[in-house]
Amino acid sequence: MATFKGFAMKRLNETGWVEKEVPECGPLDAIIKPTCVSPCTSDIHTVWEGAIGDRKDMVLGHEAVGEVVEVGNLVQNFKPGDKVIVPAITPDWDDEAAQRGFPSQTTEPLGGWKFSNFKDGVFGERFHVNLADANLAHLPDGLSDEGACMLVDMWSTGMMGSENANIPLGGSVLVIGIGAVGLSSIAGSKLLGAGRILAAGTRPISVKVAKEYGATDIINYREGAIDEQVRELTDGVGVDSVIIAGGNLENTWKEAIASAKAGGTVSNVNYLSGADNVLIPRVEWGCGMSNITITNGLCPGGRVRMERLADLALYGRQDPELLVTHRFDGLEKIEDALYLMKDKPKDLIKPVVRLDLD
Ligand code: NDP
Ligand code: ZN
Repeated sequence: MATFKGFAMKRLNETGWVEKEVPECGPLDAIIKPTCVSPCTSDIHTVWEGAIGDRKDMVLGHEAVGEVVEVGNLVQNFKPGDKVIVPAITPDWDDEAAQRGFPSQTTEPLGGWKFSNFKDGVFGERFHVNLADANLAHLPDGLSDEGACMLVDMWSTGMMGSENANIPLGGSVLVIGIGAVGLSSIAGSKLLGAGRILAAGTRPISVKVAKEYGATDIINYREGAIDEQVRELTDGVGVDSVIIAGGNLENTWKEAIASAKAGGTVSNVNYLSGADNVLIPRVEWGCGMSNITITNGLCPGGRVRMERLADLALYGRQDPELLVTHRFDGLEKIEDALYLMKDKPKDLIKPVVRLDLD
């Protein structure tokens, strides 16, 4: 195959199909044929909100499971025909930021995010993975393509939100936003030993999965400020940890900080767009003296991360397939799946597209 077809961001606010040359496989790299892909809310921020600026004919998508079709001559652990989990984030593991412990930020801020950021993504018949030995994981028996596709970004990001939230054993957590990312934060918070988990969102399907993943209280943010509802539910005390996985720049940061106890943590995983500044409420932040820590991060990638997340699914700790609400078949359906993600109907958490490519 010399060229491949892919679904791309043609420019800001415009998507379409493109035909491109299959990328060259460097000595440490791999070329993958996807077998299952899923659109991300981040693809929507990228195309329709200009969150990372303009892009020309860039193939979209960064959530995939696939089959190896080619490897470079220095790749040791993978061969053509292997079924693989492909992390959304594919760092340059030899970069100094990786040595400092921040692989997702290698070469530049957010530089580990290559697919559908500054390189063609996974919504095509073929895509390229740098440093295959470090950036791919074998798909284990017993884990479906669809389930594994939920690990590469949703679980990895959402659970990172919980890992960054300093949750004390038995502590209380508020998760703002219960799309696939926030739901994964609920799952991660339960696994990390949270006691009470409050979750803010309204879509009925999300509320159902939030309870299945471990939420103990549901807050409808349309019925009043989240922090006021949290104070009411906690006798005015607030929560140990807040994870921001949705919301907006007008209200959410105020509500998050005002919901946290002094000494608590606010952990952001939301991809912020729509305004230039994030406003931290002065009084609610104890005039800057309340020991409330603010953390944030980009989805972790890498082989070990994927293997560990796969084990959480394989050994029954949580079920990633609960996030999948819509299933499509065939390359051309990627367009429908992306637009579904943009429209966010009430019965949607995540769509997947299953592919059976030559
Ligand atoms: P969704 O759009 O599916 O979910 C957003 C959630 O936020 C919904 O539950 C929605 O509620 C809720 N919400 C909307 N408005 C408010 C409000 N005013 N107050 C409180 N909650 C509100 O998003 P995803 O779960 O797919 O993604 C969440 C974010 O994570 C996105 O910004 C995405 O780009 C980002 N992301 C970040 C990554 C990272 O590496 N840091 C990686 C991947 C994604 P309702 O139930 O009413 O719809
Ligand atoms: Zn994403």
